Amino acid sequence: MKLFHCSNCDNPLYFENTRCLACNSEVGFHTRHLAIITLRRTDDNEIFLSDDFPEEKLRFCSNQQTVGCNWLVNAGNGDGFCVSCKLNKTIPNLSEPDNITRWQHLEAAKKRLIYSLMKLKLPFRGDTRSQDRGLQFEFLSSDLAGRPVMTGHLDGLITINIEEADEIQRHLTRIRMKESYRTVLGHFRHETGHYYWNRLVRDFGILSSFRALFGNEEANYTDAIEKYYREGPSPGWKESFISEYACAHPWEDWAETFAHYLHVTDSLETAWSFGLQLTAEKSDQAGETTGDPYEEKDFRKMIAVWLPLSIAMNNMNRSMGHNDFYSFYLSARSLEKLSFVHQLCRQWKSQFS
Ligand SMILES: [Zn+2]
Ligand SMILES: [Zn+2]
Ligand SMILES: [Zn+2]
Repeated sequence: MKLFHCSNCDNPLYFENTRCLACNSEVGFHTRHLAIITLRRTDDNEIFLSDDFPEEKLRFCSNQQTVGCNWLVNAGNGDGFCVSCKLNKTIPNLSEPDNITRWQHLEAAKKRLIYSLMKLKLPFRGDTRSQDRGLQFEFLSSDLAGRPVMTGHLDGLITINIEEADEIQRHLTRIRMKESYRTVLGHFRHETGHYYWNRLVRDFGILSSFRALFGNEEANYTDAIEKYYREGPSPGWKESFISEYACAHPWEDWAETFAHYLHVTDSLETAWSFGLQLTAEKSDQAGETTGDPYEEKDFRKMIAVWLPLSIAMNNMNRSMGHNDFYSFYLSARSLEKLSFVHQLCRQWKSQFS
C-alpha cells in the first residue's frame, strides 16, 4: 500500500484516514486515481472539491455514515455507493450493535483487497455478456443464517463468517486449526483467489500448465478436503506447498498461492513507498530495487527484495515480542507457483487494460 500525503499540509495520510491528523482537512480515497486526496467542502454540505482534481465534484460513499467508508464517488453517482461497497450482496444484521464494529473491520480488509485488484487491473465487476456475476460479498453470522456459516466461495460469491472479525474468536480458531497466520485480509485474498482461478486459468485455457505445477484439480474436492482434515498434510509438504492447507487440493493450493502473491505485492508496495531497501549478504540480487511491484515484470526481482525484507521484518517483530511478520518458507517450488500467478496477472494486464 502506498503512503499518501495531504495536499494542504504535506502530512502523511494512510489508506484508512478520513481526516488529516495535522491540519484536520477531510480526506477520502479517489477510486479512479487510486489515491487519498484532500477535500474542501462546498456550500452543499455533502459535495466536495479537491485541488488535486479541480474539475470533479465528489461526495463520500453512502456507507460513510454506517461503516465509515472513506471512498469517494462522483457527486452525480446514482445510488451513491463506491466501487467496493457496490460489491456487497449481503451486509451484517445492523440491529445487533457489535455487528457495526465487525463490519468496519471486514470493510477495512476488503478495501485493501479491492485496491490491489484495481492496481493489478484484474476484473471484478460482473459481465452480463458472459454470465459472469463478478465478485460479490456476503457477510453472514450463524445466528442470522440459522445454520453454521462457513467462510468460502462460489463462482465469485465470497461468503465471510462475520465472527472472523472478532479478535478472540479468530485467535481461538487459529490455535484450534494449528495455523501460524489467520487474518480477515488473508481470508479475502484466499477466497478471491478461487474466483481468479476461473478467470485466469480456466477461461484462459491453460489447464495443462496449471496442472504441471499444482496437480489435477479434477480430483474429487470433497474427498480431498475430508482427507486433509482427517490426516493433515503429507510429510515434507514444505518443499512443495506454501502452507499446510495448500496441500488439501490443487484449488486450495492455487488460492493460497494467489493470497500470498497479494501479501507479497502489497507489502512490497508499502516498503517501496517508505523507501525501505534492504540487502542480505547471501542473495546475489539482494538490494535490487523493484520500484512499484505492481509494474514489475520480473518476479525474481520482487523476490530478491522480498526475502531480505521479510527476514528483517520478522526480526523487527521479534524485537517487540510479536509473532513473525511472514511465517512462511518459500521453497523453489512455491516460488515457481508464485511466479506463475505473477505471469498470469501480467498477461491479463497487458491484454485487457
Ligand atoms: Zn493536512
Ligand atoms: Zn463505500
Ligand atoms: Zn479455499
